[in-house]
Amino acid sequence: MNRKSERRLRLLQALLAATAAAPACLVLWPIAPWAACLAVLALLIAAHRRMLLAPGTAILTYHSICDDAAWLPWSKDITVSRQTFAVHLQTLKAMAAPVLATRDYVAMRQRGEAIPRRAVVLHFDDGYFDNWCHAVPLLIEHGFPATFFVSLNFIEPGHSPRPREGLRQASPGYMSWAELRAIEAIPGLEVEPHGIDHARIAVPGAAVDRLTAENWRDHLWLQWAASPGPKHDWYTRPIAWAVPLGSAVPPSRLALASPGLSGQRTETQADLERRIRSTLERCGETFAHELGRAPRIFCWPENKCSAAGRSIASQMGYAATTGGKGRNAASEADSVLSRVHVPDRSLGFASPAAEALALRALIGAMHGNLYWYPVLLAMQFTRGAMRRIRPLKVGTTQRKPGARAKRPMEQTT
Ligand SMILES: [Zn+2]
Repeated sequence: MNRKSERRLRLLQALLAATAAAPACLVLWPIAPWAACLAVLALLIAAHRRMLLAPGTAILTYHSICDDAAWLPWSKDITVSRQTFAVHLQTLKAMAAPVLATRDYVAMRQRGEAIPRRAVVLHFDDGYFDNWCHAVPLLIEHGFPATFFVSLNFIEPGHSPRPREGLRQASPGYMSWAELRAIEAIPGLEVEPHGIDHARIAVPGAAVDRLTAENWRDHLWLQWAASPGPKHDWYTRPIAWAVPLGSAVPPSRLALASPGLSGQRTETQADLERRIRSTLERCGETFAHELGRAPRIFCWPENKCSAAGRSIASQMGYAATTGGKGRNAASEADSVLSRVHVPDRSLGFASPAAEALALRALIGAMHGNLYWYPVLLAMQFTRGAMRRIRPLKVGTTQRKPGARAKRPMEQTT
């Protein structure tokens, strides 16, 4: 059962038990007051127990850590400001949350060891340069381990780490292998693969859009898919460079999660598995060459994978992969990492106190305490209302009118 279904079921059960207390009391009181009290107490205890799930672990996923990542078309919902990130790390410290490195966390689970209560794991996807500039120094300051997942075609060239000094504002681009090697040299920080090119693949169906000068960056996957090889500098290109404006935009799915169109025919399951295997092999070869070791954890683009993908990753020596929909409870597969996206502007505007509360609520819910869920719902409602009153001006594109914002607990990465 995924965490959304589990949460709904348990909340419903708790609600039923709690609401049954009043009629039980009314019926029993005239007959035996002490029995009425016991029944109410038993029902309230039952409701309370339904609100506390088996302990899980919060794997918090960040992307860009930047005050204005306007160079990213998808920046609005996945960018966290430097101030919010600093507040989050201070909150983790105040909570005395044990922050575990992914490799240690996975090894502990696979050895059957108990995971510390309230444990947290920190992930950063896509390898943005602002992670190097803004996140790494704060992680070092707090002594928190973290994992950075990088896509091979989005790694900047460069022979030495770039200086961070003076980079107080937006810092577009991606980290280089030099910077990733420097990260690996810091105790607790590690680099793992996020595929080659974050690829989507066209699937059969009617066109969903047509490329224009205004929307081509919303459909960057088309340009990426048509230009194999490094594309770390896509954000410097002023025009669609591989698929011309006016072209139809076909429906698409994540390339490592679904078969797609290969020329005029739809791929078979064997084609998909071949693609997954070659992606994982290429990641292994590149990591061996650049970092001198094999990768251990694989992060599926957008957190989605095929059923065959996990099996192939396991056969190829990956200890775990992302894409789970649970809470990392002991009953769940120990090779599957269920992550939760960390939002910013949880109330629709900047508020350090609200971000600290939102993080506590997110972690509490992942740890299995459903009393935090009404807090998340209230924040989601406020955020949605504020967005309607004052649309967020971050990034180059805005959500289409009427499109629903993802809820904090269902964000994918
Ligand atoms: Zn990603």
